[in-house]
Amino acid sequence: MASANISELKNSLRELYLADQRPWLVGFSGGKDSTLVAHLVFDAVQSIPEEQRTKEIAVVCTDTRVEIPAIVEMIETSLAKMRKCSAEQKLNIEVHLLRPPPEQSFWVNIIGRSYPPPNRTFRWCTQRMKIDPVTRFVEQRMGRWREAILHLGARRAESATRAQTLAGRETRNGLTRHPDLPRVWVSNPIQFLTTEEVWAYLLQTPAAWGGSNRNLYKLYNAAGGGECPIQIDTSTPACGNSRFGCWTCTVVEKDKASEGLLQSGDERMEHLLGFRETLIEFRDPANGYRDMKRKNGADGPGPLKIEGRRELLKRLLKLQEETAQRN
Ligand code: SF4
Repeated sequence: MASANISELKNSLRELYLADQRPWLVGFSGGKDSTLVAHLVFDAVQSIPEEQRTKEIAVVCTDTRVEIPAIVEMIETSLAKMRKCSAEQKLNIEVHLLRPPPEQSFWVNIIGRSYPPPNRTFRWCTQRMKIDPVTRFVEQRMGRWREAILHLGARRAESATRAQTLAGRETRNGLTRHPDLPRVWVSNPIQFLTTEEVWAYLLQTPAAWGGSNRNLYKLYNAAGGGECPIQIDTSTPACGNSRFGCWTCTVVEKDKASEGLLQSGDERMEHLLGFRETLIEFRDPANGYRDMKRKNGADGPGPLKIEGRRELLKRLLKLQEETAQRN
């Protein structure tokens, strides 16, 4: 069942590739769904004769600069392999790891700008650290591209809300218009696959860029099964609701990925989980680190006080020393 579905998907991607010259963007988060989409794109291009591989393709991935170390390592390894494979096989696929500029990093916003560590109602981080770097990249490219197609790994089986969002969007030839970037068309090639079908394919098929997906599976097991999809607009589910997010994430109640990794022997997570508790402590107005007036003058828990920011910086530098010693 899975392989029949997947070979149809490969064929339609091949047809889409040959249908026009519109460049492709491929959102890659390192999770299973976007790994499968990247597989399918590599497979589609490999099946096309070299002289016809004229389409520009860019795989884009974001690194918030506060990602869980084991996840970043896996992503960097995969991206390096993709780059090598594309160069050796002349696939014309570029690979980009996008980061927020230093002035929009987590620590600059907290210690420099006094933002409280994020929560569900004030989740200032996703836009600045994940969405904006992708939007900036796409806008730069759109200067010379008339239109582009963005392939994502969203699936209806992920959640009822996701299914509703996917079903509700305007489509043209199976593509939906990006809600914020009007010249970008979004393709969700694996939207009808189940989680079992995704894993079945990934575990039975070597990665198109070399190596197997066993390490990815192991990481999922160690991290408790969650992932943070690449964020392209505000309708993408909050990575705070899943578990492969930043190690600093205070949006989720429990950081299951970090805890799972620690339990499975990744000792680096011990200090990082401890510091996450510090962030929660600083966010709680009862501990006196926050002004009791908001920036707009209204009463209520507002920005971090200067003394709190100094103290947090001191503790962060200590954490840096401790983790450097461990490495
Ligand atoms: S993982 Fe958490 S801290 Fe990181 S961008 Fe998402 S919501 Fe913000």
